[in-house]
Amino acid sequence: MPELRKDAVTGRWVIISTERRKRPSDFRLERPTVIGEQFCPFCTGREQMTPPEVLAFRNNGSGPNSAGWDLRVVPNKFPALQVEGSLDRQGDGLFDRMNGIGAHEVIIETPDHGKSLAAMSEAEIERVLWAFRERIVDLKRDIRFRYILVFKNHGAAAGATLEHSHSQLIALPIIPDFVREEIEGAKLHFSAKERCVFCDIIHQEITAGKRVIHENADVVALAPYAPRFPFETWLLPRNHYARFEDSPRQVYESLARMLKTVLMRMNKALESPDYNLIIHNSPFSDQQANDYYHWHVELMPKLTRTAGFEWGTGFYINPTSPEEAAHVLRNAKA
Ligand SMILES: [Zn+2]
Ligand SMILES: [Zn+2]
Ligand SMILES: [Zn+2]
Repeated sequence: MPELRKDAVTGRWVIISTERRKRPSDFRLERPTVIGEQFCPFCTGREQMTPPEVLAFRNNGSGPNSAGWDLRVVPNKFPALQVEGSLDRQGDGLFDRMNGIGAHEVIIETPDHGKSLAAMSEAEIERVLWAFRERIVDLKRDIRFRYILVFKNHGAAAGATLEHSHSQLIALPIIPDFVREEIEGAKLHFSAKERCVFCDIIHQEITAGKRVIHENADVVALAPYAPRFPFETWLLPRNHYARFEDSPRQVYESLARMLKTVLMRMNKALESPDYNLIIHNSPFSDQQANDYYHWHVELMPKLTRTAGFEWGTGFYINPTSPEEAAHVLRNAKA
């Protein structure tokens, strides 16, 4: 059973999950081996290599866990957290711990081994977003969970160990630190001004224009004013929606189009970088109308490495200004 432990000084939670190691002596987990097509468990016809699916989109009447799907969601075979059991919160002297309960699922975005998210059609990308929505709506009913993290690692430098295009979802019994930081900042802004800080940012950036990468009907892509990484990009719905899963259909459509545009431009300008994509969403505890938090997507191409200075100070040295990054991506039309 994985375990959640809280650092007594900073309040930071970590997951101790020894099950993810193949052998007790296998301490170096981060080996740069990426599983290619020959042994790929996500390819069509290899459905028995994954745990049984929890969701699949099929349009040809094929049965569950057999070939013929367009998209599949399956539990992660090597989950960071375990779905069965109770939290069993306990003190351990001055420390706090609980069982590592959570859901860890994999969204297999396409049956086609070689097709990246950027190469998918807008309709195919939209289907991936709908799968995120369906799984969030389902997992929200589980009262043990407080937050669902949806993310994608593309490429070995971003942490992907399988080539086949996929995203992941982790339902957590705690609210992660980065969400807490954003929520607290957004709450402060709202209590001072009675306005959403993200709506304010969108308005100001669209007016100024210099950090805007691209706009469409419902979504704007921009380089944030103080980015941690070169070419860090935020995709925000123009209108205020607190929760990803409660947004109207046209927002998914626009987001799919925006993702395709931005990823293709990054591929052109930055030579197809590896990247991490993360959805920042409201925690479940904010179920009433939430005026201060505004969900968004953060996209981070892996162009630099996090080193001692960043680990030591918690702040980042970014060699590319957001104004320059936005300029490059505005002009990298494929
Ligand atoms: Zn594959
Ligand atoms: Zn807003
Ligand atoms: Zn964010």
